Amino acid sequence: RAKTLGKNRYTVFGDDMPAAGAQVSGPLAEIARAISNAEFVLHYQPIVNLQTGELNSAEALIRWQHPDRGLLPPAEFLPLIEGHPIAASLDNWVMDEALRQHQAWLAEGLDVAISVNVSSTKLQERDFVERLRAKLGAHPRVGAGRIKLEVLETSALNDIGHVSQTITECAALGVPFALDDFGTGYSSLLYLKQLPAKRIKIDQSFVRDMLVDSDDLAILEGVLGMAAAFKREVIAEGVESIEHARMLVQMGCLMGQGYGIARPMPPHQVKAWAAAWRLPDGLAGCRVLDRN
Ligand code: C2E
Ligand code: MG
Ligand code: MG
Ligand code: MG
Repeated sequence: RAKTLGKNRYTVFGDDMPAAGAQVSGPLAEIARAISNAEFVLHYQPIVNLQTGELNSAEALIRWQHPDRGLLPPAEFLPLIEGHPIAASLDNWVMDEALRQHQAWLAEGLDVAISVNVSSTKLQERDFVERLRAKLGAHPRVGAGRIKLEVLETSALNDIGHVSQTITECAALGVPFALDDFGTGYSSLLYLKQLPAKRIKIDQSFVRDMLVDSDDLAILEGVLGMAAAFKREVIAEGVESIEHARMLVQMGCLMGQGYGIARPMPPHQVKAWAAAWRLPDGLAGCRVLDRN
């Protein structure tokens, strides 16, 4: 049965996971405990329109404020729970926290859409859409499109039909999907064709070296052409400098995210960042390739 952890604490194991608490041990138990102890935090990284400077959204990126080891990045703990139901529990916490944060920002007069990463374990839950609908229903002030989802293209690997249907149903709820780390899977083209995600995020590995590696530039060119043909929005990840941003705009890629714009930051810094952020001079007025 689900453990009741008190009013303000998060219940890790739902009724659908009977006795899960009794079975887990090691890193899984530690992470379950960390969820109950509210040791996870979300940092936010802006996604901006590189041509207008408009703040499109902020990606929620999880960190573990570990009592002994300090602030841990997701690479330190997500791989330990991959494929396990606890990954879905953690995703549930992330969604609740993102909804809470969005409403808290709204109350401060800041309307920032939040993009939430979803694990493949969570995505494959049969009642994924129903649970999402319930969570959104409990947060009536969150407008359509203000919560967005990101999935690795490879998340659909096992059941592309189900995932495709999930994406369509979420779109009807006003929740758009992005295919994350696009281009790194073995079947990116197949996923692009079969998954009706509104957005694709070009993996940072292609963007990082685009200025020095003509192969990466060619891949970027190809992805942008396909995205336009399939009418998907494109976001470049790993925009580390103004030079990257300028080149992306010239190539017709209008949205970007990366250290050159802002690093992920704790939520209390987002309002001040949004107020101070201006499109760098080297970008304003940059000519754009029209791909339509
Ligand atoms: P992602 O979704 O592709 O997120 C982008 C990652 O790239 C983040 O790493 C971000 O800090 C980093 N990044 C952003 N701009 C730059 C840049 O200009 N240069 C470089 N080198 N890196 C940049 P982070 O926060 O360590 O997250 C790693 C991955 O962990 C994420 O990749 C995502 O797949 C996963 N993840 C993060 N938060 C969550 C979450 O709440 N739930 C789930 N299921 N997965 C998450
Ligand atoms: Mg992501
Ligand atoms: Mg990514
Ligand atoms: Mg990634």
